Amino acid sequence: MNVQAAPGRPTSRLLAWLESCLVERRPATSSLLFSLLVLPYLLLFWGLHRHVLATPSLAALYQPQALVGAQWGLVLTGAWMALVIAWSVLGEEQGTAPRPALTALAFGPVFVGFLVLAIGYGLKDTPVGLLLLVILMLGRWLFDMRTLWPALAASFVLFVGSDIAIHAGWMSYAPLLRQPVFGGGELQPWWALWTRVVFHAAALPFCVMLFFFFTTLARQRKALEQLVRTDMLTGLANRRAFMTQFEIECHRHARSGEPFCVLMCDVDHFKKVNDTWGHPAGDAVLAQLGRILRETTREHVDLAARLGGEEFAVLMPATDLEQARAMAERIAERLRGHEFEAEGRRFHVTQSVGIAQACGRRGTGGPGCEDVLKLADANLYRAKREGRDCVIGSLAAA
Ligand code: GH3
Ligand code: MG
Ligand code: MG
Repeated sequence: MNVQAAPGRPTSRLLAWLESCLVERRPATSSLLFSLLVLPYLLLFWGLHRHVLATPSLAALYQPQALVGAQWGLVLTGAWMALVIAWSVLGEEQGTAPRPALTALAFGPVFVGFLVLAIGYGLKDTPVGLLLLVILMLGRWLFDMRTLWPALAASFVLFVGSDIAIHAGWMSYAPLLRQPVFGGGELQPWWALWTRVVFHAAALPFCVMLFFFFTTLARQRKALEQLVRTDMLTGLANRRAFMTQFEIECHRHARSGEPFCVLMCDVDHFKKVNDTWGHPAGDAVLAQLGRILRETTREHVDLAARLGGEEFAVLMPATDLEQARAMAERIAERLRGHEFEAEGRRFHVTQSVGIAQACGRRGTGGPGCEDVLKLADANLYRAKREGRDCVIGSLAAA
C-alpha cells in the first residue's frame, strides 16, 4: 500500500494507488477498501432508521418488528465489517492478512445483507436496487470470481425465492414497510426525501466508478499496446513495431520520393561472447547496444529496434546513404570503445552494419519495401564476409 511511491499531485497519486489496488487485488487491501467504501451506506441506512424510530409519524410507515430486525441486521453487518477492517489492517502487519479464499467473508455477508434490505424496501421500485449494483460492481472490481460466487449463488436463491414467495402470497412485497414506497397516489413526503437521498448516494458513486473504470481500461490498453511493441531486454521497439513503421515509411517514400535508409546491425562473434563470458554478460552487451542506438539516433525521427537475438535495425526517414553511413560509424565507434566487464575481466565487442537507401523517384513507387530490407541484410553479410567490424551500404535500385 505505498501511496508515496507514485509521483504527481495527491489526487493523481490516490487514483494511481486505487488503480494499482484494482490491478494487484491483494486480498487484504481489497477487503479493506471494500469494507471502507461500503460502510458509509450501512451508516446511512442505520441513521435513517434511527430517525424513523425517533419519529412516530415516520415509524408508522414501517412494520415495527421488521424495522427493529433491520436495525439489528445493520448493526451485526457493521460489526462484521469492523472485524474485516481490523483483520485486514492488523493482519497485513502481522502476516495473517485474509487469504484469497477468505475474501468471500468480506464480500458475501455484506452483499447478502444489502440484498435482504433491498427486498425489505421493495427490490423493484426503490433505489436500493441501484445500490446493490454499486456494491456488486465494486466487489467484481476488487475481488476474483471465486470470492463472489458463494454470495452470488445465495443472492440468486434469495432473489428468486422472495419473488416466488411474493407472487404466491406467502410474503408481502416490501415486507419492511406497511405499504410499498410507491403505493399508488402521491408519494409520501418521507419517501420523496428517502428515494432522493438513497438514489443520489448510489447513482453518483456509480457514475464515478464507471468513468474511473473506463479511464483505467484505456490506460491499461495503452500500456499493453506499448508492451507488445517493446523489446523487454533493451527497451527498444521490437520487430513488430519496426515492421509497422517500415511499411508506413515505404508508403510515405512512394508518395514523396524522399530517400530513407535502413541500418542492420549484428554483433560480431556474439556466440563466443556468450560462451566465454556467460549469458548474462551477453545480455549486458545487447542492453548496452540498445542504449547506444537510443542515444545515437534522432529522437522522434529514427526508429531503433531489436529484430531478435543480437540483430538490430534502425529506420532513418529523410536520410541519404552518406548521412546513414556517418551515423552507423558513430554507433560502431561507441560500441567498439565500450568496455564490458565479466568475472572481474574486461572485454570489448564489435558489430557489423549493412545499410540500404531507398531512392525511388516520386510517383514511380520506388523499390519494394522488401528490396530495401533484403539489401540492408545482404550488405550486413558482406560486412561479415569482409572481416566484420565494418559498415557497408548501397542504394536500392529504383
Ligand atoms: P557472427 O559474427 O557471424 O554474427 O557470429 P555470431 O556468433 O554473432 O552469430 P550467431 O548467429 O552464430 O550467434 C548468435 C548468438 O546469439 C546465438 C544465441 O545463443 C545468441 N543469442 C540470441 N539471443 C540472445 C539473447 O537474448 N541473449 C544472449 N545472451 N544471447 C542471445
Ligand atoms: Mg552476430
Ligand atoms: Mg546474427
